[in-house]
This record gives sequence, structure tokens and C-alpha cells, in this order.
Amino acid sequence: MPDGGRPSGRPAGGYWIATWGCQMNVHDSEKLAGALADQGYVPASGPEEADVVLLNTCSIREKASEKVFSELGRLKPLKEQRPEMVLGVCGCVAQQEGEAIFKRAPYVDLVLGTRATGTLPRLLPDLRAGTASGACDTEVRDDSIRFPFDRIRREGEATGKAFVTVVEGCNHRCTYCVVPRTRGPEICREMETVLAEVRSLTARGVVEIEFLGQTVNAYRDGEGRTLADLLAAAAAVPGVERLRFTTSHPAQMTDRLMDAMRSASPTVCPYLHLPVQSGSSRVLRSMRRGYDREGYLAKIEGLRRRIPGISLGTDVIVGYPTETEDDFRETLSLLDEVEFDTLYAFAYSTRPSTAALQLGDPITQAEKLDRLARLQEHQRAIQQRRAQRWVGQEVEVLVEGRSKLQASSWTGRTPHGRRVNFAAATAPGRRERVRVVSATAYSLRGALAPPPA
Ligand code: SAM
Ligand code: SF4
Repeated sequence: MPDGGRPSGRPAGGYWIATWGCQMNVHDSEKLAGALADQGYVPASGPEEADVVLLNTCSIREKASEKVFSELGRLKPLKEQRPEMVLGVCGCVAQQEGEAIFKRAPYVDLVLGTRATGTLPRLLPDLRAGTASGACDTEVRDDSIRFPFDRIRREGEATGKAFVTVVEGCNHRCTYCVVPRTRGPEICREMETVLAEVRSLTARGVVEIEFLGQTVNAYRDGEGRTLADLLAAAAAVPGVERLRFTTSHPAQMTDRLMDAMRSASPTVCPYLHLPVQSGSSRVLRSMRRGYDREGYLAKIEGLRRRIPGISLGTDVIVGYPTETEDDFRETLSLLDEVEFDTLYAFAYSTRPSTAALQLGDPITQAEKLDRLARLQEHQRAIQQRRAQRWVGQEVEVLVEGRSKLQASSWTGRTPHGRRVNFAAATAPGRRERVRVVSATAYSLRGALAPPPA
């Protein structure tokens, strides 16, 4: 088979990819799958059946990072049994650790960094043939963002949804965060290429597009076009019913972007994930977030003024080295003030080569977990209360699949990002009108709304 060429006839083998972490990692796995499918590989049902096993890893917190090594330990006997199987580590841990992975797990064949996905087709034939081993590519490339979009093997496509990368990397320097190291500096795609991808997706039946970037609202292409321009242009593409974008940085949430969200509404969904990290201006300054509590609240006010009823989500870190009990209480009071609909909360975890390492890790794990539990309980009550506003309302649900809670029910999301479970004769990718009958802090339950008279 020629290098990178399409094989004819029998499949080149089976592949299995395990993914940890954020939407960007999920989407990178779709690119890795696309690169493998392009070489004639087909998905395997598990690592036991696969000729190529890839672990696409996350290193945002130590626990996530360590999971990779326990998974490698689990795969070691399989690799010993079938030495011809190619075992690779990709993603953020690969970028962070590089060749050091071979020292800890010498049976690994391949280490592929976050900006080297496109190298896989070149490295794989020799690894499969056994003429090479211990391949490592962690070069930070500028062309990493230009993975051919027609080759991406998208998991969500059958459900009418697709991720589209618009920015890769991050130019911020939040003191606690390893991402600038693991994903490199920001690089943006040209707007025309993004729109070409959007058009090719709608032609295949995709109705919901989610633009991705570690700081997606930093988007600015070579012609100076920003996320505001991109949203306006993408919302005008026939077939685009829902547009989302994640993750936004509060400091870059400009008035112009908020205006664009309003103008392109309701195609731009009334939901925004805007990570605050802390409610204390003192902690935010120490984290080098580039905004304070008042600045963040002003953005929330600007969003709610333009898009009444918008749902909001956020991320919070508890136990950051300088966080006192009073600072933590300020975070609790910020939750009361904003009333988020979704919260992702994390205990601070020290990360290699980050500025916050200098501050030590003075808050005990027990104290961090105590704050985490209090924060989550506080938010649960807010979410429980806020969710009640949906009861009795009719909402549009884009169906994702069977509900995990009840096999006879279906599940999907509303434009506001609320999960809805309901019983009906439907299928993934369909949009249904559902009347909400009950609500918990985490999901809604409903029934198909009667068709309009
Ligand atoms: N770019 C996004 C932003 O600026 O908010 C965040 C992306 S990061 C992949 C996702 C979340 O992980 C962050 O919002 C933060 O809450 C959390 N996180 C990052 N570093 C962390 C650390 N060292 N310990 C605990 N949580 C962390
Ligand atoms: Fe990490 Fe800050 Fe960049 Fe978000 S903005 S990825 S938290 S450095």
C-alpha cells in the first residue's frame, strides 16, 4: 500500500481509540480515526480485536494524566501477547511527556503530540511492518489545523451534530494551566475554509455545528475576521439550524461578539459556556485571568440584556493555592448572583511547568474536596430551582440516542443545552417538539407535543 494512499480490497486492519478530556480531544480522535480510515483501517470492537490501539489523552489535571498510565498497564499483557499490535499515546500527555513515555512504558510504539495528528499515516506503515519502533513526533506545527476536513470520521454525524475546529492552541498564561504547553500557541483557520467545512456538513445532513477552540472567541483569521463575523456567515449557510461555540474566555467576550450572537439568534443557540474559575477578584488576579469579578458580572449582564433567557455554564477551580475560605465564599456568592445552569467544578491540581507551582499546594486535599462538595451542593440547589422554569414549556430536542436512564426513552438537547428524556417513536438526528413535564437539576423529562392544529 503506498504511503498515505487508499488501499483496495481487504481492510488494512482494525483500530480502537480511547479518548479522555474535552471536546477538542474528542474531535482530535475523529481526525485520528479519519487518518486511519483513509489508510483502509476499520473500527474494531475493542483493543483485543484491534491492530492499532491509540490512547488520546488529557493532562489538564494530574488524575487525568495518571489514568493513561494505568490504562497502559492494563494493555501491557495484550501487547505482550500480540507484539504486532501498534500501541500509541496521542494528545496532551504525549505532548507533555514526549519520549519520557517510552521510559515509563517501553512497550509503547508511538507517541504523537497534539499538533502532529497528520503524521500518523506516514509513521504507521513502518510500525505495522515492524521495521520501526519508538516513533515520537511532538513538533508544534502551524499546519496542524489544516487536517483535511472531508477525511474526519465524525462520531456525532448520525445525530445531526458536528464539531468544527476554528482555533487551536492558547496564547493566555493562566498560572494553573498546562494547555499553552500541551497545545501550543494559537493558530486560526481561514474563514472560507471553515465555511466550506460547514457547507459540506450541511450537505450530509448535519444541522448543529459547534465551533471549537481552547479560546474560541480569540478567533481572528488572516483577513482580521473574528468569531462575530464567522457566526454571522455560518448562520447564513442553508441547513445550519443550530450554532454553538466553546470555550470562550471572558476577557475576549466583546460587545461585538455579543451583538453578533443576538443578531444571529436563534441559529446561534441561547447558551454560553463562560468559565469564571473564581468569584474572588484577588484570586482571579493571582490566576492571571485578565478580568475581575465585576468585569465578569458585566459580561453576564451584557449577555442577558441582549439575549433574555440565555442559559449560562461555567468552570470553577477550588483550592487554588492562594484561595482563602473568604475567597471561596465569594465564589459561592457569585453562583447566587449569576445563577448558572451548568457548572463544572474542579479541585486544583498542580501541573508541570506552570507559574502557580511557585505558590506550592498549601490547601490539603481534604479541604479541597470539602470546598468542592459545598460548591456542588450550592449549585445543585440553584440548578434545581432554575430548571423548574421549563416545566409546562414546549421545547425543540435534537435527538442523540437512547436515554441512559431508561432504555425505552430517547435523549437529546434543547437549544439552551438542557438534556431532555422522553418516550416516542423517533430516531437520532431528528428534531422533536417536546412538552416538559418535570425537571431535576440535571435533566428534563417530557412527552412529544401534539402536532399543531
Ligand atoms: N480555555 C478555557 C478557559 O479559559 O476557561 C478552559 C479550558 S481547560 C481545558 C478546562 C477547565 O479545566 C478550566 O476551565 C479549569 O476550570 C480546569 N483546569 C485547568 N487547569 C486546572 C488545574 N491545574 N487544576 C484544576 N482544574 C484545572
Ligand atoms: Fe488554560 Fe487559561 Fe488558556 Fe483556558 S485561557 S486554556 S485556562 S491558559
